[in-house]
Amino acid sequence: MADKEWNVVDLLKTTMAFFSDRKIDEPRLSAELLLGHVLGLERLQLYLNHERPVSPAELQAFRDCSRQRLQGRPVQYIAGEAFFYGNRFAVDERVLIPRPETELVLEHAMERLASCALSGAGMPSILDIGTGSGCIAVTLSLRLPGTHLVAADISGDALAVAERNAADLGTGERIRFVQSDALDASFVDAVGGPFDMVISNPPYIPESEWASLQDEVRLYEPRLALVAPEGFEYYRSIVSMAPKLVRKGGLLCFELHADAAEGVRALLGSGFSNIQVTQDYAGHDRALSCIVG
Ligand code: GLN
Repeated sequence: MADKEWNVVDLLKTTMAFFSDRKIDEPRLSAELLLGHVLGLERLQLYLNHERPVSPAELQAFRDCSRQRLQGRPVQYIAGEAFFYGNRFAVDERVLIPRPETELVLEHAMERLASCALSGAGMPSILDIGTGSGCIAVTLSLRLPGTHLVAADISGDALAVAERNAADLGTGERIRFVQSDALDASFVDAVGGPFDMVISNPPYIPESEWASLQDEVRLYEPRLALVAPEGFEYYRSIVSMAPKLVRKGGLLCFELHADAAEGVRALLGSGFSNIQVTQDYAGHDRALSCIVG
């Protein structure tokens, strides 16, 4: 790439081909997101500005990003941002990268919440367990202004990211952040409640599946956010706390591991009713919700 004047489209084409050759996942998207990041342009704008020259300083920055991508670092961590439900969230290795499947869980939860008309005239109170980047809590706060939200995570590092995202997106005042472990008996008192809805995308990858995860996930994303020894520990603990965390008639909503629907149903005893499950784009059971009490 040396000694040549680059413009957007040539640089994209060359980089895509290079990423493809090196077997980088999603070569086109990677090149577009990274160049967009360096130039401060959205992806579509890259094509509207395809002949825009790339300055030597920009080229240098883009090469640095591309090098990180070639080493396997996820694009979102390199760019320091991920998009969730149309909003930009700052992300780095302290938090899980928000996934499209989680957008679906959020949608499932919001539909369920609307159909339950939970607190009559008032806005609902919601607890997000394992908030990570804060993507679920902040999005709910934006979509349902006036909602009382508590966002909990075991990781102080993750909470720092979530708080920043809440502040950047203008919901900082409306969310209380709590550092607490959902496997610990002190959790119920730490978060307060009861809430109209508890939502969680908890760690659900069993230890036994860790080795088979993509390198990008295994080497870069926080293990703490992903792994539960047997896969079900967080589901089990949250279900057992639910009668205290969720008010009678309120909702419990989980993101599921692709194979977890039956296992989670089995955890829900007679105290839970009206279980609904939604599949993701790949046809896996991904969101589950039920009424508590
Ligand atoms: N709530 C965040 C998300 O859904 C983080 C989840 C986690 O860390 N397990 O992306």
